[in-house]
Amino acid sequence: MYRLARSLRSSRSFSRALSTRASNVLSALGLESQGGVLPGVYTGRGWGGTGNVVASKCPTTGEHLADVTTATPAEFHSVIERSREAFHSFRMLPAPRRGEILRQIREALAAKRDSLGALVSLEMGKILSEGIGEVQEFIDICDYAVGLSRMMNGQVIASERPGHTILEVPNPLGLVAVISAFNFPVAVYGWNLALSFVAGNATLWKPAPSTPLCSIAVTRIVAEVLEKNGVDGGVAALITGGHEVGEALCESEHVTMVSFTGSEHIGAKVGRKVQGRFGKVLLELGGNNASIVMPDADLSLAVPSVFFGAVGTAGQRCTSTRRLYLHREIAPRFLDALKKAYAQIPTGDPLVSSTLLGPLHNQNAVKAYHKAAMHLHEVGAEILVGGKVKHPSGFDQGNFVEATIAIPPSQDLDLWKRELFAPILNVAIFDELDQAIEWNNSVPQGLSSSIWTKDIRNIGKFIGPSGSDCGIVNVNVGNSGAEIGAAFGGNKRTGWGRESGGDSWKQYVRWSACTINSSNEAPLAQGVNFSL
Ligand code: NAD
Repeated sequence: MYRLARSLRSSRSFSRALSTRASNVLSALGLESQGGVLPGVYTGRGWGGTGNVVASKCPTTGEHLADVTTATPAEFHSVIERSREAFHSFRMLPAPRRGEILRQIREALAAKRDSLGALVSLEMGKILSEGIGEVQEFIDICDYAVGLSRMMNGQVIASERPGHTILEVPNPLGLVAVISAFNFPVAVYGWNLALSFVAGNATLWKPAPSTPLCSIAVTRIVAEVLEKNGVDGGVAALITGGHEVGEALCESEHVTMVSFTGSEHIGAKVGRKVQGRFGKVLLELGGNNASIVMPDADLSLAVPSVFFGAVGTAGQRCTSTRRLYLHREIAPRFLDALKKAYAQIPTGDPLVSSTLLGPLHNQNAVKAYHKAAMHLHEVGAEILVGGKVKHPSGFDQGNFVEATIAIPPSQDLDLWKRELFAPILNVAIFDELDQAIEWNNSVPQGLSSSIWTKDIRNIGKFIGPSGSDCGIVNVNVGNSGAEIGAAFGGNKRTGWGRESGGDSWKQYVRWSACTINSSNEAPLAQGVNFSL
């Protein structure tokens, strides 16, 4: 139930002056709240929201960046109403015209790419080049969807009946709610919006409550283009807020599809709730990803890739490398090289271009990291590097931890089976590829995997029926990150979702099979005779 939690309302008025560091980033996007509170609800008829206030806090410095208002339950219903109204006109706009508007959105995003990337870095905590890369991903998927706007083809199918033709026709679906996670506060929405938009839907975004500024900045850019084109902004509406807003979206009969990105635990609730009312649901959940390194691997490529996979985004990607399986022959050499890289990780302000390891997103993540590091000690794991909470000088209030490599004593431990959203890499040594594949597949999640080898037989096995059971199966490419061209998503407890490229767009439309009779007879299929 979506209730207004008065106790969560902030009575504080946010008047402290911002640091120059934060102010530079926020003012480049017109987000300085100047002591007030930013409205976090966009309906296509201006900005508002008089519900709970959520705070945006910088993970690097602990600085309070802004307060943002969310919607009251009554406002929630009017946002849904507005988006549905906007959908009714938008669905009639020809798809190539929708593509042209998306092209303009792409241009507007590109013009602000670096400022938006810096905002991602400031608010989420990932390093600047990854923040900019995330916005680039939104730009790329817009390009892809502009092309799609002239290619969302159905099919013409041969009918068994004379003078009959069968068509498979895609039409707009309705209202698509996008509930997104904190770790990709721009790109995940981009993947969804671009496809949903060209497909002719209204999209309503509920971002993570800790990254409201990214969502406001993006929505303002999109809204300006829509308004310039005379398109009702309700087709790209925004409603900031916490779990209560997410729950209300899942419950609403007016929301045709919920595209959810987040943890397994919440994804299970979302899946049950939306399917319980026969809504469509797309789930992109946690990953617990492994890289396998064979004895013939080119270590000069594999070591830096594993280093990025495990340390990049401070281990807070759904595709981060969490498990490393090394063949016995190369394990000592590989670990020596990896330890050397870990010994010199530039840690600190993610907005500084030389930094490679920024903070975790919040204190809960630091606590989870600390607990996991303690657990590794308790079970007798060998900790090769790291294992401690960190306080780089000048960042006493930041959420920093050491990137960690550990060798747990056995494969039977539960720690292998869970996604821990922090830079901890657990390593095991194998003798046969079959053993490594079995370990790769032995966890409940199934997002991303990779093998490092030059042997075509290993490649064939890894990508084939007895190979990796993940949605992403890479060869001589790290398991962290992906391009937008292919469908992105995982299997098993990662939720079986597919977003972005490939055939993903087919989920954002409703399909109709239409049999058209242009003959003078009306025969039944399969030769059934029902005449009097
Ligand atoms: P989370 O599950 O805590 O929250 C995700 C979103 O769900 C937020 O917007 C949150 O407010 C909302 N929410 C919370 N409770 C809800 C409820 N009961 N009903 C509906 N919505 C609710 O996840 P997080 O901590 O923000 O993100 C990290 C997780 O996301 C990790 O597990 C990561 O692997 C996963 N993730 C997956 C992918 C992917 O594509 N597979 C991509 C990015 C992140």
